[in-house]
Amino acid sequence: MSNNCIFCKIIGNEISSVSLYEDDDFKVIMDISPAAKGHAVLIPKKHFANLFEMDENTASKVFVVVAKVAKAIKEELNCDGLNILQNNGEAAGQTVFHFHIHFIPRYYKDSVDITWGHDRYGEGEAESIAEAIRARIV
Ligand code: AMP
Ligand code: ZN
Repeated sequence: MSNNCIFCKIIGNEISSVSLYEDDDFKVIMDISPAAKGHAVLIPKKHFANLFEMDENTASKVFVVVAKVAKAIKEELNCDGLNILQNNGEAAGQTVFHFHIHFIPRYYKDSVDITWGHDRYGEGEAESIAEAIRARIV
C-alpha cells in the first residue's frame, strides 16, 4: 500500500470500483472515465509505480489474466478489436502511478485514437541501438 495511491485504495476497498475479476494477485475494474464502454484496467494488488518496478513473479502472471479478461470482453461486447495498453511514466501518458494495463474495446469507425507517426533509422543505427539494449537485458 502506497500513501495516496488511488489504485491501492481501490485494492483496499477504501474507494469503490466496479469489479470484473479478482484473484490473489490482481483486480480488474471498469475504468471510471472510459475511452469506450467496457474499457477496463488490470491492477496488481502490490503497489508498483510502473513496469520498471514490477517483480518477476508478478510480471510472469500478468498476461494469463490479461488474456482471460480480454477474451471475455471481446466475447460479451462483440467488439471488432481490443487494445491492450500500458503506460510507464508521465512522458508516456501515465497519470496514475500504480502499474496498470488498459483493455480498450475497439470498433470500426470508433473515435479512439491510439496512433503515432513513423521515425526512420540511419544506416546501421537500428543494429547499434539493438546491440546496446541487448547488453542490458538480464
Ligand atoms: P493512465 O493514464 O494510463 O495512468 O490511466 C489511468 C486510468 O485510470 C485512466 O483511464 C483513468 O480513467 C483511470 N482511473 C482513475 N481513477 C479511477 C478510479 N477511481 N476508478 C477507475 N478508474 C480510474
Ligand atoms: Zn498503489
